[in-house]
Amino acid sequence: MKRIGTINKTKEIINANSFMMKKGYGQNFLIDQNVLESIVDKAQITKDVNVIEIGPGIGSLTEHLLERANKVISYEIDNKLIPILTDLMSDYDNFTLINKDVLKANIKEDIKTYFNDDRPVYLVANLPYYITTPIIMEMLENNPNIKRYAVMMQLELADRICATKGGKDYNSLSVAIQYRANVYKALTVSRNVFMPKPNVDSAVLVFDILDEPLYTPKNEKVFFKTVRASFANRRKTLANNLNSGFGIPKDECSQILNELGINPQIRSEELGVQDFVLLSDVISNRIKGDN
Ligand code: SAM
Repeated sequence: MKRIGTINKTKEIINANSFMMKKGYGQNFLIDQNVLESIVDKAQITKDVNVIEIGPGIGSLTEHLLERANKVISYEIDNKLIPILTDLMSDYDNFTLINKDVLKANIKEDIKTYFNDDRPVYLVANLPYYITTPIIMEMLENNPNIKRYAVMMQLELADRICATKGGKDYNSLSVAIQYRANVYKALTVSRNVFMPKPNVDSAVLVFDILDEPLYTPKNEKVFFKTVRASFANRRKTLANNLNSGFGIPKDECSQILNELGINPQIRSEELGVQDFVLLSDVISNRIKGDN
């Protein structure tokens, strides 16, 4: 291993390649070997697993993944990093580097093409902070073949994802993720182990995707839309948020909620995953009636 994730080696690579780090791409590189190893440990990466990585940067996490996993596909948006990574990872024959915005990639197709076996696929990443939520939602909604996520993000967002109903941090992302996965905070990571140093600390969350969701909605798209609409405006009541989100008249929203035994005046943070599934089932029937 070349041991890229140390401050001296990181500086050396950046200087040798005259690489300019881009804040706009969320480029905060990890420079602590212990943290890098802990992420791979917490993700339980072995040769029986294939890994998707998002945002390899200069490859400090990638290098550990390549050592431990069967095969790795990394998606990197910044084309200036491609020759650097290609050179640094040239010793590994289990690496595929894709120069693409991960949100525009066809991950399902890439998994078939490059992994082409039955090993489970895990996603491991130090995610770019500016698009953490869209990436996680895109993966959960459209890539059911990813079985485990071990993802670094801002601590505050990690706390929101892990929050349970009734708490101030509980939001649409907590519901959308907890509906599909067992989630836990595996590591808290100080801002001091990144270059450049960000303004906030981070955390690594592990999500283990459930074989079946805890409760199965009739229409998953309507379920996700119900969750998003319910939390759209935290100052509004649930009935008012549903009215804005679906265009269903307010008195009808109240009626639907009453029939489900839910007080229309409550705020969305009082509802659990099962409540949202039941609510979305009634809404999908109601919307169907409109079409
Ligand atoms: N994995 C490296 C590490 O831990 O040191 C770098 C992590 S850095 C927080 C995020 C990386 O994601 C950067 O390399 C950045 O260029 C890349 N990135 C940002 N937006 C991306 C996108 N839409 N698709 C793919 N990669 C992206």
